[in-house]
Amino acid sequence: MASGSGSLMWFRKGLRIHDNPALEDAAKGTRFLYPVFVIDPHYMEPDPNSFSPGSPRAGLNRIRFLLESLVDLDLSLKKLGSRLLVLKGEPSEVLIRCLKEWDVTKLCFEYDTEPYYQALDVKVKTYASNAGIEVFSPVSHTLFNPADIIHKNGGRPPLTYQSFVRLAGQPSWASSPLSITVSSLPHVGDVGSCEISEVPTIEELGYGESPQDGFSPFRGGESEALKRLRKSIADKVWVATFEKPKGNPSAFLKPATTVLSPYLKFGCLSCRYFYQCLQDVYRNVKRHTSPPVSLVGQLLWRDFFYTVALGTPNFDQMRGNRICKQMTYWCRYLGMTMMNCWRLGGMLGQDTLGLMLSWFRSALQVGLDASSSTPLCCMFFNSWRSGRDVFERLLIDSDWAINNGNWLWLSCSSFFYQVTARYLSAQILELPF
Ligand code: FAD
Repeated sequence: MASGSGSLMWFRKGLRIHDNPALEDAAKGTRFLYPVFVIDPHYMEPDPNSFSPGSPRAGLNRIRFLLESLVDLDLSLKKLGSRLLVLKGEPSEVLIRCLKEWDVTKLCFEYDTEPYYQALDVKVKTYASNAGIEVFSPVSHTLFNPADIIHKNGGRPPLTYQSFVRLAGQPSWASSPLSITVSSLPHVGDVGSCEISEVPTIEELGYGESPQDGFSPFRGGESEALKRLRKSIADKVWVATFEKPKGNPSAFLKPATTVLSPYLKFGCLSCRYFYQCLQDVYRNVKRHTSPPVSLVGQLLWRDFFYTVALGTPNFDQMRGNRICKQMTYWCRYLGMTMMNCWRLGGMLGQDTLGLMLSWFRSALQVGLDASSSTPLCCMFFNSWRSGRDVFERLLIDSDWAINNGNWLWLSCSSFFYQVTARYLSAQILELPF
């Protein structure tokens, strides 16, 4: 057993130093700090049989983005007198092994609403409480605590954006400054016999030589996220007049939106810091747009989907999902064939870049893309879950709550489906078949 008492900071998302309450708490009053990231084969193991490079659950672009984010985090930790300890295996088993091996009295990690992480967290928390280890798991991936909103709404999530916004009000932390800089961190303690490595490269993970050309222009990491945020908010007029869905959806070199979603997904950027920066801009202009179309409004959409996802059992399914319309798909075989064509053809650009801008995404999904009406047909013959699966694997910003939420909505299976259905029927009448 290593000597001295310490804290373990378990990074999963929240790959940042700024506004990271779990890290802040882990570093407080401790002799040693163990900053850990576990390479999880569930997401990272190469799948040679997949239709494009990557693991069964993540395309190579997302894996690469994650590795870049980890390298950046490691560099930042090193500047603060620490470093990232990278381990590999089933995360709860690895964590429990570390807690047994190291003299740790506190375990800190960011609260996560995804079912996969919730199940892991139960295992780790159960071990920790039996072993007398204190656990601190704050909410910092969303603006609000989704559980609080559900509680305020009598135990069920609000199903309209307006009711969500009304219940949410102002975030409790909004008027006090967030902790953005850290001056130093406690040293890493003795790691005993635990197998620690540096952040692996794509090749070390078993993906072989990777072509450079096809990769996304968006580099992962907190440094890049903060640079991108500063660039976005520097143009105060643009922030103040931001209004979705206005803007050119196909403008890729100078996107009509912030392109911060992959950084929010991995927590390289704190959504709370983003929100405070936007509020600062709003305070310094005469007039600004408001939710749902403003930039703050976009962050509220994100929180809305997180809240509904947490409060809806089987949110990612049709069966057993009380908010999802139970549809009959006309011809599954035809639907699957169309979906495969769409996946291999239409998604080619997406596969290369791993990111599609918002309205381009909706257009692809509902078949408004001038070149193809395939996805639209897919929705009549096939379940929204097939398209969801393609996005889930290939998008860099693939996010369980947001992806499922948007597919449920745009397939008219849930949420504001009457409005969407009216809009879609108008579009169908214009299609050339
Ligand atoms: P901006 O317009 O600059 O907005 C700022 C932030 O607000 C975004 O980064 C995002 O975190 C949030 N936001 C914006 N639009 C939405 C929305 N519709 N729902 C929830 N949050 C939103 N977004 C993801 O992050 N991950 C996904 O897996 C995902 N899947 C989608 C699937 C479909 C079918 C559709 C139609 C949309 C999906 N979106 C997803 C939402 C949206 O397309 C992206 O969040 C947006 O394109 C990201 O670009 P941006 O960062 O420039 O957004």
